[in-house]
Amino acid sequence: MKHDRSRTLYDRALSVMPGGVNSAVRAAVEPYPFFVRKGDGGHVIDADDNRYVDWVMGLGPLLLGHDMPEEVRAAIQRKASEGPMYGAPTAVEVDLAEFVTRHVPSVEQIRFVNSGTEATVSAVRLARGHTGRNKIVVMQGGYHGAQESTLVEGDADHPRPSSAGIPQSFAEHTLPVPFNDEAAMRDVFETHGEDIAAVLTEPILGNYGIVHPREGYHEFLRELTEEHGALLIFDEVITGFRVGGLGCAQGRFDITPDLTTFGKIVGGGFPVGAVGGRAEIMEDLAPAGDVFQAGTFSGHPVTMAAGLETLKYAAEHDVYDHVDDLGERLRSGLADIVADQAPEYTVAGTASMFKVIFTRNGAEPTCAADVKRAETDRWRRIFWESMLEENVFLSQNQFECQFVSAAHTEDDVERTLEAYKEAL
Ligand code: PMP
Repeated sequence: MKHDRSRTLYDRALSVMPGGVNSAVRAAVEPYPFFVRKGDGGHVIDADDNRYVDWVMGLGPLLLGHDMPEEVRAAIQRKASEGPMYGAPTAVEVDLAEFVTRHVPSVEQIRFVNSGTEATVSAVRLARGHTGRNKIVVMQGGYHGAQESTLVEGDADHPRPSSAGIPQSFAEHTLPVPFNDEAAMRDVFETHGEDIAAVLTEPILGNYGIVHPREGYHEFLRELTEEHGALLIFDEVITGFRVGGLGCAQGRFDITPDLTTFGKIVGGGFPVGAVGGRAEIMEDLAPAGDVFQAGTFSGHPVTMAAGLETLKYAAEHDVYDHVDDLGERLRSGLADIVADQAPEYTVAGTASMFKVIFTRNGAEPTCAADVKRAETDRWRRIFWESMLEENVFLSQNQFECQFVSAAHTEDDVERTLEAYKEAL
């Protein structure tokens, strides 16, 4: 397979962009990432005209695949042709806000921003402003974007920044605990309960190999936070409008969080984030309340149109049946292959999310520590590249999940299973 143009582009990029990319994970593969020329249905075509089955799907936003259905594409083009944005409100923002509040019962009001990171920044500030408390509890191995309050590792007794450039004094307000560990969560509330503004968690960890909540875990979180006057924030940037369809993962688990963060699918492939929740809390956001939040591009009309038309299309077609069905076929096919060829590995996922984790602890992982033991190096140096040789594009690190879109076909699934067989 030739990669001459990608190599040349990467060499040029390295001189003008740190690490040659605009987002860290994209360069996580060696010796260099391939550069995409365009998408086509469930595939991408690189700068050297190689075609891959694409299970990255923009890292989650592309529920409908690359070349969206005609009505979705037309709505986006129409909005773009009317002048991209104005710095004044537009009808399409109200339309999308109404759509989301209609389908996600916990969301009475919503504020659109420009990325999942911005959504969690706003949610954390809002939770602190609303409760008058400082600390937030997060899950070890959870990811909430590139922001100061959540780039924290260690444990609740010894939190420390997970990136250079974040003061230790910031990290002290973030308390990481193991996912699914009720005793650890109780301990944290025993010690810091009076100063905990919120528990912030993905309903299913999607950035660390896909880890599912144990039965009753979210009910436990709901009760404990209520008991202590803290908010429960579900970060549905990945799971929102993917797991549980239009009702999101909170609908599937039948849990009502106080706040929810969204991103990815709700912007139909354009830059987006959102925070939504109970009106009584949301109205603390400026200008209704005194928690400041603003953004030049927030509620961008092209993004709003893309999100609205994507979700309407999903509501009116069998998108979720299709992606969940192919997801199931992938996972069961992979489970057979792994059982036969690599019984030390685990197949994880649900709905249209899937991942093969290069570790096994007798069962599915239940927390970050289980996933951490994975053979990351082997995955990156041998496996990812072998899959690329088989023309299958997987997410660029061992921990991030992969996604099925409405544009994927049974043939894509079959080809991918064959490729896994070869590569493993
Ligand atoms: N929260 C979760 C759960 C995410 O998966 C991500 C990104 N993958 C973010 C927040 C940050 O979103 P963004 O990259 O759009 O800033």
